[in-house]
Amino acid sequence: MALIRLSDVSYTYGAGYALQGINMAARKGELVGIIGPNGSGKSTLFKIIDGLLRPSQGVVYLAGLPLARKTRKQIAGQVAMVPQENYFLFPFSVKEVVLMGRFPHKGIFQFEGDTDLKIAQEAMELSKCDHLGDRSIHELSGGERQRVLIARALAQEPQVLLMDEPTTFLDIRFRKEFFELVSSLCSQRGLCSLVISHDIDLASMYCHRIIMLKEGRIYAEGSPTEVVTSENIGEVFGCPVLVDKNPVTQTPRVNII
Ligand code: ADP
Ligand code: MG
Repeated sequence: MALIRLSDVSYTYGAGYALQGINMAARKGELVGIIGPNGSGKSTLFKIIDGLLRPSQGVVYLAGLPLARKTRKQIAGQVAMVPQENYFLFPFSVKEVVLMGRFPHKGIFQFEGDTDLKIAQEAMELSKCDHLGDRSIHELSGGERQRVLIARALAQEPQVLLMDEPTTFLDIRFRKEFFELVSSLCSQRGLCSLVISHDIDLASMYCHRIIMLKEGRIYAEGSPTEVVTSENIGEVFGCPVLVDKNPVTQTPRVNII
């Protein structure tokens, strides 16, 4: 069964459509890459799936039930998002930020217990930021902060994980490790994960399926080999490329020409 399903979803911020007629679904254990140029509606799509924005038209279903009938806390118990922008007003420690991920699983006035601390610790180890535990979130590099936000999302123990350009500040090793981590969480723990990324080659290596957006609509959808073609990338990004195959993994490789 689809954990997430969007049925004819459109969204407008006021002037024109940011998303139009979106039909898509993602299952348990699936890793789906979302690609598309700046302004094509990728972040808006995630805000709709996370319930931060209500569709102007259409319905979002989470595990078969309309998202609109759920409270924020109920949604947060099932869906975690690593947002594109992040800003912390207070100099929380890394550990505190990761523990915030436990919030949807707590009652009012209920403090973190040993289980929460253990889950937070494991999440920090998985995203390789456990050595930063006592540091202030304000004193980290972009890549370190991104790994902390990934840990916070994992500590939330979601069924659906949405990550909006999570590899932007990561170096080449952490980019690969990030995709390996998410890929193993999907296959071993049955997580359903949607990743927005401009790392088209890496997304092609690890994602089961790619959805390509253009001007708020789905332009192409299918396996990486079906979607990541010279024609599609050239047309959607307006940039001539030659897509061939990575000689080792045999997955699509984008060469700018
Ligand atoms: P992407 O993540 O693919 O770069 P977005 O979903 O952020 O694209 O934006 C899609 C479109 O919606 C863009 O044209 C953008 O300018 C517009 N948009 C995004 N956020 C807002 C907002 N808060 N108010 C008005 N327009 C917005
Ligand atoms: Mg965006």
